Amino acid sequence: MEYPKTQMEFEQSFATEEQCLNFLISLRFENGFVCKKCNHNENWVNNRNVLVCKNCRKEISITAGTIFHGSRISLTLLFRTLWYIVAPKNGVSAISVQNILGLKRYATAWAWLHRFRRLMVLPGREKLSGRVEVDETLVGGKKSGKRGRGAEGKTLVIIAVELIGERMGRVRLETIEQADRICINKFIKNNIETGSTVITDGWKGYTDLNKMKYIHLIEEKTVKLDKDDITPNIHKIASLLKRWLLGTHQNYTSPEQLNYYLDEYAFRYNRRKSKSRGYLFYVLLKQAVLHEPVYEMELVKPQ
Ligand SMILES: [Zn+2]
Repeated sequence: MEYPKTQMEFEQSFATEEQCLNFLISLRFENGFVCKKCNHNENWVNNRNVLVCKNCRKEISITAGTIFHGSRISLTLLFRTLWYIVAPKNGVSAISVQNILGLKRYATAWAWLHRFRRLMVLPGREKLSGRVEVDETLVGGKKSGKRGRGAEGKTLVIIAVELIGERMGRVRLETIEQADRICINKFIKNNIETGSTVITDGWKGYTDLNKMKYIHLIEEKTVKLDKDDITPNIHKIASLLKRWLLGTHQNYTSPEQLNYYLDEYAFRYNRRKSKSRGYLFYVLLKQAVLHEPVYEMELVKPQ
């Protein structure tokens, strides 16, 4: 698949609505267009951006039923928004998107960033496996919190990171209501392959892991180690995450929205070594034509 590799290539490839639409068509019909009604393979695009079968005249809207469904914003502008999301390593805030694209409403930029964020959990993604470190951290708020139940204004986030030798592999992050066995077991089951070695501290929330067919390795606190050193990789991820929320998003995330930001963080982190940002643009755009619409009312409004 061809995708833009540089800013210049992007500008040239998606300067017009027609270029954007043709790209969406190629994503939606990877093996070429085939009419669902009569199996004919030729079409034209009418002036409403609808594909029309040359044989039976059946009409197929390219954007209907996708994340672009009913959008009043041009495809050229939406493609640019997505490009600005993936091109910088740390992403962008809604206010930057609004300014760069000259959008009238902040809420529009905000809503589109959130729609694109919903594409960042790829369907059928593989669970973490091998050696995986797991721990929780508190995000947001000013007061320091207590383990287990979180604290006022803070959200409890559970983090898993794959260890490949000395290096860190992929990460998964999710908010949890409390650090009890129910929440922890659910996260681990959904994100880590059974049979993997799960490394945690001695917290009572992790007591079911052997029963759940994981190899549970408990790192005990020693006099030399403080809490953070038991799961040093999680500590690294947690501080990178907090810096990212503070830097790119000025901490403007509400607890209700935090999971989507965590998805974006994991998407970026897990692809941090990807040389071509254009490839990420392609991956998300492909998701966009497969993803059902996300209506503005489904998104929690910005404060
Ligand atoms: Zn047809």
